[in-house]
Amino acid sequence: MATAVAAKVFKNFIDGEWVEPRDGKAYENRNPANTDELIGMFVSSTEEEVNQAVDAAKEAYKQWRLVPAPKRGEILFRAAELLVERKEEYAMTREMGKILAETRGDVQEAIDMTYYMAGEGRRLFGQTTPSELPNKFAMSVRQSIGVCGLITPWNFPMAIPSWKIMPALICGNTVVIKPAQDTPLSVYHLVQALTDAGAPRGVVNIVSGSGSKVGVALTKHPDVPVISFTGSTAVGRVIAEACAPDFRHYSLEMGGKNIILVMEDANLDLAVDGAIWGGFGTTGQRCTAASRLGVHKAVYKEFVERFVERAKALRVGDGLDAATDVGPCINESQLKTVMEYVEIGKNEGAKLLTGGKRLQGGAYDKGWFHEPTIFGNCNPKMRIAQEEIFGPVVSVIPIENLEHGLEVANGVAYGLSASIYTRNVNRAFQATRDLYTGIVYVNAPTIGAETHLPFGGTKQTGNGHREAAIAAIDFYTEWKTIYIDYSDKLQRAQIDNS
Ligand code: NDP
Repeated sequence: MATAVAAKVFKNFIDGEWVEPRDGKAYENRNPANTDELIGMFVSSTEEEVNQAVDAAKEAYKQWRLVPAPKRGEILFRAAELLVERKEEYAMTREMGKILAETRGDVQEAIDMTYYMAGEGRRLFGQTTPSELPNKFAMSVRQSIGVCGLITPWNFPMAIPSWKIMPALICGNTVVIKPAQDTPLSVYHLVQALTDAGAPRGVVNIVSGSGSKVGVALTKHPDVPVISFTGSTAVGRVIAEACAPDFRHYSLEMGGKNIILVMEDANLDLAVDGAIWGGFGTTGQRCTAASRLGVHKAVYKEFVERFVERAKALRVGDGLDAATDVGPCINESQLKTVMEYVEIGKNEGAKLLTGGKRLQGGAYDKGWFHEPTIFGNCNPKMRIAQEEIFGPVVSVIPIENLEHGLEVANGVAYGLSASIYTRNVNRAFQATRDLYTGIVYVNAPTIGAETHLPFGGTKQTGNGHREAAIAAIDFYTEWKTIYIDYSDKLQRAQIDNS
């Protein structure tokens, strides 16, 4: 909702300054567990503000790219230290709604990424290799690219922005970030830590506001050669179309329909633990959430009974309450999506085993709460087993054997994460080979990425790039190949080398 500017407005951060909004418009950001609570007002930015931020980032890039990478790394290292000191303060359960332990995990992931990328400042390795000609030296080095436009979703308000900002900066780029409207404050905290750590003016800029205005303006700006986006597949496609005509670099991390396969020889206690955490952690609002379970028919009955019993015992509520296991959905629209999919599942003939309703009454009326919901006897082609719901809804599909499980697992449009519970090493290795996803777990749920390994997916989850790890360095740099001939004569490659 756009309202007149009030005292609590968090301004845009442009060229090292918190700047007044151009047209005085701001929007409210509220706690999804208690919408009476206003987190803050954020600027509904205009295209002019995007242009201003890009200009600042472009200007800052002239110097930042020349700062030695180990020195850039020192700034990141100091930022990581500040994030450690401020972890409790920055763990903003009120912003996204996930339970406090998980919110702390979100900040921790940013800390891990910042330390990791700080270390990369002393690597950023290229290659040296012998030339085919005498007295000639050959090497390739990584080069920064320029201003990076970063567009992030709401489910990991600090971690995902850190996955983009830190590698972009260590490689010598400057950034303009548009945080999700639902969770902007964590980005302000992250940028505050970087600024306090000594990031020069203009190197990091925040422009808040809607995807349709700020996001679109960033993806079309001629001085933004790199776009990194995490969000839905539908928006990712729009961004790809916006970036293609100018041949921008663009990285898309999008939806998922992840699966846990439970084989007949699985440790069922472990598998139930994994299915509960994978399916209902973060209220199912993870791109890697285990929203499908493929359970071998020999253990189907026993597994489902235990899984349903555990789901029924989950306590839904305000994530700040230590007794809460599952927080709210992020907003009313996401809650409605969940409720619509519950109806779709029922109409498709899936068996509703538990949940299925919005939680109402008392404190629930102030937020966007939904029961943890499980559908059994699902056909893998049902919409609830094919489409991303992004909420606390899990579809259980009976499977005949490993081959059938793999076919079900791979039979969706997405390819982010998959997992198998088995004690048979041969099956485990076959699954790691044949699951066509960017991430595979054995005897662990589909969630739990670590920052020093590549993150991303296949098919409609991604466009071939990966985030985190060295893969991020690959995205935020371009290779330059350099030949130095010290023979003092013309040497022709492929001709004078016999
Ligand atoms: P959206 O795609 O709706 O939004 C993501 C971001 O894009 C937001 O900042 C949004 O702005 C912005 N945006 C919207 N439209 C445009 C546009 N036309 N041009 C440029 N930017 C635009 O996703 P959600 O925020 O709802 O996040 C949920 C989705 O993200 C799920 O599908 C989930 O799977 C995916 N996701 C994927 C991850 C991965 O790594 N694969 C990780 C986390 C989430 P606004 O603030 O206005 O909404």
